[in-house]
Amino acid sequence: MVERRLRRSGQRYTANRRALVDALREAPQPVTVAQLVEVTPSVVQSSAYRNLAVLERADAVHRVVTTDDFARYELAQDLTEHHHHLVCRSCGGVTDFTLSPEFEQRLESVLAAAAEGDDFDSDDHRLDVLGTCSNCS
Ligand SMILES: [Zn+2]
Ligand SMILES: [Zn+2]
Repeated sequence: MVERRLRRSGQRYTANRRALVDALREAPQPVTVAQLVEVTPSVVQSSAYRNLAVLERADAVHRVVTTDDFARYELAQDLTEHHHHLVCRSCGGVTDFTLSPEFEQRLESVLAAAAEGDDFDSDDHRLDVLGTCSNCS
């Protein structure tokens, strides 16, 4: 999947990119570049930034927006599973969470109704919850 997406954007699935994608697959939560290079010693930090940008452009990796200066990365949702994020305003930490199918359906219908007002045909959503994590409160 990742290889096909890279090829589509004219890129190869190099050893470094493979190492980063494997590390992201293993990570339980979205991780910073510093956390990533810690578990992929073969990849230096500057190369990690470059390769993550390539993977992001190929739609294989998603950058989670947080409130601190450190971007956090995860595999694209359609390569993993649909989920949401709890983003701590204080430390920038990100925790994944999922909703029950029933809640997802209710959320979808509320968002679809809102989008309809703008003649917008919605087919997916991203929803991050902002606040303070238990470590910071
Ligand atoms: Zn926190
Ligand atoms: Zn959802």
